[in-house]
Amino acid sequence: MRTQKTICYKIKDPTKRKTRLLRSTAEACRSAGNYTLQICKETRSVNHNILHKKTYTFMRNNLHLPAQLAQSARNKAIESYQSYRALKATNNGVKHLFPHFDGNPWIRYDKNSMSVKWAGHIPWVSLLTLKGRVHLRLSGNKYMLQALRKRPLKFAEVIFKDGDIYLHVTFVEEAKKPRSAKCKTVIGVDIGINNLLVAQARTLSGKVLGTIFFNGGRAGAKRKFFASLRRSLGRQKLLRKIKQTKKRESNYMKYLNHQISRKLIEFANRFENPCIAMEDLKDIRSKAKYTRRQNKRIHNWNFRQLQDFVKYKALGEHLPVRTLSAAFSSLYCSRCSWRGLQVRVVRNRHTIHCKSCGYRLNADLNGAGNMTYRAARYILATGGRAGDKTAERKSGPELRHDRNSSPAKRASTDLSYTLYHMTSKASSVRVG
Ligand SMILES: [Zn+2]
Repeated sequence: MRTQKTICYKIKDPTKRKTRLLRSTAEACRSAGNYTLQICKETRSVNHNILHKKTYTFMRNNLHLPAQLAQSARNKAIESYQSYRALKATNNGVKHLFPHFDGNPWIRYDKNSMSVKWAGHIPWVSLLTLKGRVHLRLSGNKYMLQALRKRPLKFAEVIFKDGDIYLHVTFVEEAKKPRSAKCKTVIGVDIGINNLLVAQARTLSGKVLGTIFFNGGRAGAKRKFFASLRRSLGRQKLLRKIKQTKKRESNYMKYLNHQISRKLIEFANRFENPCIAMEDLKDIRSKAKYTRRQNKRIHNWNFRQLQDFVKYKALGEHLPVRTLSAAFSSLYCSRCSWRGLQVRVVRNRHTIHCKSCGYRLNADLNGAGNMTYRAARYILATGGRAGDKTAERKSGPELRHDRNSSPAKRASTDLSYTLYHMTSKASSVRVG
């Protein structure tokens, strides 16, 4: 199986001349795309040869597009027409509009019309325009640059957005070999506000292999800062500035969610045949029965984005992800399964204290532990297959596979606890 991945690089400091050239080329490509769509509509054809004969002269003589760009603009238009036809064929009662390229202009490049050269660690891309090639510098973090250096690219698109120019590069790669279907380790994930994400790895019999924490303190402080900034901007009626802070905040959230999800996948990959168990997001709001202020905080964090990032990153690594109901997972003791826990704030930490067995533990870690048990129960019931089903809505009494291997006991005797450090300044990782 092959997978596709698109990475957006910003074009760094283009000169006025290069910007002008790219823009005029993009306008021409957009017109070429719209012209092709019209021909598709008239001929009702997606045949490349027919469309080539009908559009090529117009693109070359009237729009002055280079041959390669004319071809790729036509391909893009055909793709868009095909997806329109496919949508129309589903006949789901929704009226689908005939595609038309308006809004931001674009240029599509393929292997022949663009090339990447490296000046040390800096990538320079050479792009074909109406008047020859232009050379532009790309910027990106080290992962993005690594991808550009190593992966075979399929095509790329120049996009104009908010006054900046971006290059969206699409890579293809062979998906990693599928792992054995039998799951041996469960990574239980708890998402929350005090800790944005807590994950615990356990074997199916309940032995703890490692724990990872992503503290939400810094993120919370950042959100508070943005909220107070917006309040003061609102008093001054600077609405455009408010919009900008919202964008900055969502960018920060996205950055953090990317980091957390990547670290989680790296963590999961350390274990044998892992399966990630995440909670069904339906439960997250009902779970957050804290104060009004805390509720506001939880309703603002983009948990769905975090989950989506984990899911797509897991897909690339062939890691199964299972979503489970997390209802009441914070009410059970992860050691003795006694129900009726209450979260207490002790020295700024949210902890649980089990009245049945006297166990004290971080509340989020307790939730993650319960998730591993739940997932393990389903996995064992299906004979080791992790499956990819969504939310099982059963809750019922928690099941323990091995009462003697409680996290507390393991913590004192087992040295397999994984030490994990997050390099990000934005969040911290504790080991527990
Ligand atoms: Zn207990």
